[in-house]
Amino acid sequence: MIKTNFPIRQFADLQTPFYYYDTNLLRKTLQTVAEESSKYQYHIHYAVKANANPHILSIIQSYGLGADCVSGGEIQAALQAGFPADKIVFAGVGKADWEIRLGLDNDIFCFNAESLPELTVINDLARQTGKTARVALRINPEVDAHTHHHITTGIKENKFGINLDQLDKVLDALANLSSIQLIGLHFHIGSQLTDLNPFRQLCHKIDALQQQLLQRNIQVENINFGGGLGIDYQHPDDHSIPDFKTYFEIFHQFFHALPGQKIHFEPGRSIVGQCGNLIARTLYVKEGSVKKFVILDAGFTELIRPALYEAYHQIENLSSDEAPEIYDVVGPICESSDCFAKQISLNRTHRGDLIALRSAGAYGEIMASQYNCRQLPKSYFSDSL
Ligand SMILES: *Cc1c(COP(=O)(O)O)cnc(C)c1O
Repeated sequence: MIKTNFPIRQFADLQTPFYYYDTNLLRKTLQTVAEESSKYQYHIHYAVKANANPHILSIIQSYGLGADCVSGGEIQAALQAGFPADKIVFAGVGKADWEIRLGLDNDIFCFNAESLPELTVINDLARQTGKTARVALRINPEVDAHTHHHITTGIKENKFGINLDQLDKVLDALANLSSIQLIGLHFHIGSQLTDLNPFRQLCHKIDALQQQLLQRNIQVENINFGGGLGIDYQHPDDHSIPDFKTYFEIFHQFFHALPGQKIHFEPGRSIVGQCGNLIARTLYVKEGSVKKFVILDAGFTELIRPALYEAYHQIENLSSDEAPEIYDVVGPICESSDCFAKQISLNRTHRGDLIALRSAGAYGEIMASQYNCRQLPKSYFSDSL
């Protein structure tokens, strides 16, 4: 008997590859986030870029979360899914004019602005539409998240945010931008943080920064800590829900909010990562001269994280309980980087076996491409199989 929590009998008739979402787990995760964050009246904006599947978005908004968007398309997707505009924040280093206008027209809660040129454009567009834009300054706090270099965002050489040594200049300029209301400070130091120390450092940095700003008589209403809480890719079943309790406790313990200040977070991966799986079928088992390859009908077109970030995803054979063997697991795309894992142990695998790539809910489906003229796969949900 094969031990798996997946409904493999229902899977048998579905065309592979496809995404399979455990919506029970998503709901439990959201329940946990809601409980743990409400202890401190924290405001949570789900980072839409992690997964913008309409069904997933509609479940997330039903738990009262706001949305963190990084494009006009994401603002539209969030509004369509039912996120209230007054809980939408909009970040990104390259906001186009139409995207800024979309935010203004819908009266979103806040623009997280990343540079002086952007502030100038937001100010102009707001004035043209007779509005005042609520803006938080995205500050680059120079905290190293110690995560993969492609997903580190809070050190000096990154393109994100306003560097601390330029903040004074930006604040001077803001005084003349009369269609902008400064309502907050925004930070996001990186993604997939499993060591929580950088968040502690971030708290200290912001405390110090706020003291500096007080000397200029600046006290903002909102502090936004961004996202970045990591998930356990090695043990998706043992740690299916990230430790939000400890995460929020850190900010409660180490950050000293000024009177009346509202605290915001933008978790993405930690909310949707573990509920998603990529389900593929084995096309061939190829015995090379030095290695055995399991060749799947899914590739980096369906899950690009291993190719892009050297990321690990647990891989399980859902069809075999035979003794494990060592394989490279690869996709059909004509690129050598189309490899999910090298030299991993998998129950002896045959053509036709169903393979699950775990923890694929974040930055999986949303990053899918049609390279090699492949079709974007369907998604299925445990609540409607
Ligand atoms: C990507 C991103 C997030 C979400 O990051 P996760 O690591 O998925 O939690 C939050 N805020 C901003 C500004 C982002 O760019």
